[in-house]
Amino acid sequence: MALAHQEKINMTTLCPSIFRAYDIRGVAGKTLTEEGVFAIGKAFASQVREKGGKQIIMARDGRISGPLMAKALSEGMLSTGCDVLDIGMVPTPVLYYATRVLDQRAGVMLTGSHNPAEYNGLKIVLDGAALTEDEIKALYQRAINRQFIEGQGEYITLDLAQRYIHHIASDVPLTRPLKIVIDAGSGVTGEIAPALFRELGCDVHELFCDIDGHFPHHHPDPGDKKNLQDLIRVVKEQCADIGLAFDGDGDRLGVVTSEGEIIWPDRLLMFFAINVLADHPGGKIIYDVKCTNQLEQLVRTHGGEPVMWKTGHSLIKAKMAETKALLAGEMSGHFFFKDRWYGFDDALYAGARLLQMLAKRKENSAEIFAEIPNSVNTPELKVHVADEHKFTLMQKLVNEAKFNDATDIVTIDGLRVNFANGWGLVRPSNTTPYLVLRFEATSEAMLQHIQRLFREWMLGVNPELELPF
Ligand SMILES: [Zn+2]
Repeated sequence: MALAHQEKINMTTLCPSIFRAYDIRGVAGKTLTEEGVFAIGKAFASQVREKGGKQIIMARDGRISGPLMAKALSEGMLSTGCDVLDIGMVPTPVLYYATRVLDQRAGVMLTGSHNPAEYNGLKIVLDGAALTEDEIKALYQRAINRQFIEGQGEYITLDLAQRYIHHIASDVPLTRPLKIVIDAGSGVTGEIAPALFRELGCDVHELFCDIDGHFPHHHPDPGDKKNLQDLIRVVKEQCADIGLAFDGDGDRLGVVTSEGEIIWPDRLLMFFAINVLADHPGGKIIYDVKCTNQLEQLVRTHGGEPVMWKTGHSLIKAKMAETKALLAGEMSGHFFFKDRWYGFDDALYAGARLLQMLAKRKENSAEIFAEIPNSVNTPELKVHVADEHKFTLMQKLVNEAKFNDATDIVTIDGLRVNFANGWGLVRPSNTTPYLVLRFEATSEAMLQHIQRLFREWMLGVNPELELPF
């Protein structure tokens, strides 16, 4: 079997388009084949062996293509003489956890995250950090150039789920039990999330917690409000304290209050920041360019140091390491706790911390979140631009940006234009053929005004753009 894969490694096995900014991702059996996964595994394990490593931890999510892809991946890695420690079907944060608590610091997660059912992919960790875009490209080159080490490693299995659950349960005790609804969206958190929150003493109502790679109920993406409608309904029916939704591989969190209100990630981060800063005055809090302006003031008011940074889980993790930040969050729903945890994006741990913060209070979650500032804002808006044009278009937009009323123009990632009473953002998506926009203001009229300025500017650069605002 291993040899059959090996003979097939060539340019056509590996579609360069699957090697992306933060991970490797493609359509299983089409752009991401078993032979391709074998080659990627062999290339990565060769790199690990060259650096003196002897073992790689692997895991997979609940996708239909997972078992065959996992077999190809482990055969590729074993064929270099590297040992493979398979921790089975678990969420991505459990794989990250394994790379922190076990001796081995290299890991591969086979996951399609929140992408459609036919997708799969690989998130790769080396020395405890996600591979950078350049490292992912280098992996492609290594596979194509067949820079492999040969050998025969040993395949070992380990169940880490209980250790992970006990670790969180001992770190995050609740002062009173809460009634919660968990919507796993048929993703891989369906088994471990109910077990974890029961261990915390919660009364757990399960929604779509049967792991099913067809995703028969709704898509496992809590970033889209249509995927939260079932959770909203059941939280109200059950009179639950809070509803938690997880994406397909458990690194992104969605939250619904007792009244059925969606708490978008930037507001949730404000709540986390207040609580973390109460214990750690002066701490740094990182958020991506898509988040509300209110974070900056709120973090300062609570004695912290706000840091705005680029979108992307690996970029945020690198910035956390550099700045020694305590906490970070992205508008996409990734939350990273360095305070009492390891600083990787972990929606299960973030959910547990949320419950601990809520349990300390007498009010219900709707009342508690009513204290967190809100604003008039849009969700992420997308403008289709082909991958080969989006970065040149972005550069043109930057060159021609003239905003007389702007108080500040931020170019950390795309262009974020701040005004006295709001802001607008346009940035090129690293993973999809879109420009992504978002707007926020203190009033609907101001929001319209900022959108009009953006419309005139963008259509001035390219009149063909189809703008959704
Ligand atoms: Zn994910």
